[in-house]
Amino acid sequence: MTGPLLEVHDLRVVFPTRAGPLVALDGVSFDIARGEILGVVGESGAGKSLTGAAVAGLLDPPGRIASGEIRFGGRRIDNLGPDAMRRLRGRHIATIFQDPLTALNPLYTVGRQLVETLQTHFPQSTAQARRRAAELLAETGIPGAAARLDDYPHQFSGGMRQRVVIALALAGEPELVIADEPTTALDVSVQAQIMDLLKRLSRDRGLSVLLVTHDMGVVAEVCDRVAVMYAGRVAEIGLVGDVTRAPAHPYTAGLMGAIPSMTIDRERLLQIDGSMPRLDAIPPGCAFHPRCPRAFALCGHDRPELMPAGASRAACWLHREGGA
Ligand code: SF4
Repeated sequence: MTGPLLEVHDLRVVFPTRAGPLVALDGVSFDIARGEILGVVGESGAGKSLTGAAVAGLLDPPGRIASGEIRFGGRRIDNLGPDAMRRLRGRHIATIFQDPLTALNPLYTVGRQLVETLQTHFPQSTAQARRRAAELLAETGIPGAAARLDDYPHQFSGGMRQRVVIALALAGEPELVIADEPTTALDVSVQAQIMDLLKRLSRDRGLSVLLVTHDMGVVAEVCDRVAVMYAGRVAEIGLVGDVTRAPAHPYTAGLMGAIPSMTIDRERLLQIDGSMPRLDAIPPGCAFHPRCPRAFALCGHDRPELMPAGASRAACWLHREGGA
């Protein structure tokens, strides 16, 4: 099939409140090709996790998609009912979250959980499913996979548990994995191994990945393209090489300055003054203008849309025709 696997167009997510709707995502558009890893990056409150949740049909009520479209394999999915969305999610779109324990049942062996998931997706005997379960654990890098089928989740380390979650996610042979901060809870050395695993699975299986992260370093290591989010909107989008080499949006430049390294203390990473605005206090004009070192008069009252900016696209008036 040609065309992107996932197309998100002008997505708007709102939370109704007594004081009126709070707009949490506003005009978010991007697509993901087959076999591509798109990083969605930003600080806490930027809307990156909400974007993943909206695509997966997992928005917490009362949050809802107010307008826009999400297409998967060319088919519109934002208007599917809960049952159809659950079927799609189990089989074609898989999710991986920060805490592997939320995805695993502590009372069942990992073998049982994998076998049940495999049999839900593809009718097969228990013996066949156990063989396939061992293969999946091996594929995700669990040593002595067959012998570990009868272990319980608590018998695995954090990193190994996340590998089990990835094996479970792969059981339905999904085309898209939405991974929301999948390594944040893990040790730094284990984080790199899990990211390598996602990269290898994308390459070997042609798997598309929407990777939600706050970490530009992870994006630079793992992703093909990146969408930088700020205050519920896409601030910049482009190929990772282009965006990291020459960030076009001052917010991206700030995040780049905050790339964590294996050796730097995270406390020292916040190099952008101020903080993400609350949903009920998003400034007029460019939402980043109160924090932007390059803001000028126009920024405070006119909101920039994405526009060509070097090799990427950025929502920043510095790139309007004729310059600032
Ligand atoms: Fe900064 Fe203005 Fe660009 Fe916003 S539009 S990022 S305030 S220069």
